[in-house]
Amino acid sequence: MKHIIILGDGMADWPVKSLGGKTLLQSAKIPYMDKLAQMGRVGRLKTVADGFHPGSEVANMSVLGYNLPKVYEGRGPLEAASIGVELKPGEMAMRCNIICIEGDNIKNHSAGHITTEEADVLVKYLQEQLGDERVRFYTGVQYRHLLVIKGGDKRIDCTPPHDVPLKPFRPLLVKPMPGTENITTPEGQADLTPQQTADLINDLIMRSWELLQNHPINQKRMAGGKDPANSIWPWSPGYRPQMERLSDKFPQVKCGAVISAVDLINGIGYYAGLRRLIVEGATGLYDTNYENKVAAALDALKTDDFVYLHIEASDEAGHEGDISLKTLTIENLDSRAVGPVYEAVKNWDEPVSIAVLPDHPTPCELRTHTNEPVPFFIWYPGIEPDEVQTFDEVAACNGSYGLMREDEFINEFMKEIL
Ligand SMILES: [Zn+2]
Repeated sequence: MKHIIILGDGMADWPVKSLGGKTLLQSAKIPYMDKLAQMGRVGRLKTVADGFHPGSEVANMSVLGYNLPKVYEGRGPLEAASIGVELKPGEMAMRCNIICIEGDNIKNHSAGHITTEEADVLVKYLQEQLGDERVRFYTGVQYRHLLVIKGGDKRIDCTPPHDVPLKPFRPLLVKPMPGTENITTPEGQADLTPQQTADLINDLIMRSWELLQNHPINQKRMAGGKDPANSIWPWSPGYRPQMERLSDKFPQVKCGAVISAVDLINGIGYYAGLRRLIVEGATGLYDTNYENKVAAALDALKTDDFVYLHIEASDEAGHEGDISLKTLTIENLDSRAVGPVYEAVKNWDEPVSIAVLPDHPTPCELRTHTNEPVPFFIWYPGIEPDEVQTFDEVAACNGSYGLMREDEFINEFMKEIL
């Protein structure tokens, strides 16, 4: 049997007043997802382990069955993988935003939505001026870049810059986590103490101001009325995660693929041992090219045993708080992804098991992620259906799988039945 997970990022939601108290999945027209939920079996999955923030990286790692407390190393190492930076033991990776600072405050976390092209010039300049044996900068995408510190200690307190727009930045500079100030060489990973690591990063931040302030790229941006990219802001440190490959856990997966426009998901795919398929027109937005993504997924299923098809659009619409746009993204997922995949594979000689689920809710009302369990269904030819007739958050409470945790969902999904 082959396996495909179709993940609608942030698709789950809360009951909405203007929809008569229905959730978006309940009110949207999703004939394929409803039909597969009817023909298959349904449950709910807790994708955010206790004590973790409901980030997409956390939730998608949980969908794949990874034990978060054991393997979670922050965003830095996932993003390193997605841009092809191989971390060696002892190398600490951090997401390194380039941001706009105005006076004593963080103006925004994205340097006024700087382009990758402009940012690349700045990041290369930072590497030239600040890079050495210990410190390396790598270009990522737009405002999202990478800082690798050899021998850094990850037990430092860093603030995600998108959480603190317009706040004074000085109190938010990097600090050692309480109680770690004087500890040296922990876990064999670091040769700097947390205090030394924090001092080094803060020094890099301050030196970046002088280098970036009058850089021609920024002079040009300011002349055009745009925000200058005048500071780095590193956060989310971690080492190479100890994630086993999907094929180690499930020997039937000899070859698998991931399709996503999101760096973090591609980074997870890298450590999971999935090959990354680049799809033209995959934007991570509601205008993404569903048809190309589905074509790539079906193509991969012909040779591979497992495909992870991730579609970001619903999450974006949820962050915008746009109920009709989010409804459209859910209906698109149904008619342009789930439907075509099902129609294509339903009669294949080698049966294909299909699971559809969100990673976490992104309620339009809240405009950010929550940690509630998400609904899922599993369908394959010959599965014994349960009573559930529709695919949504409420009906899923009656699903025969019940509430699953940790790797229960992926174990069930990958179970070889035929
Ligand atoms: Zn997400």
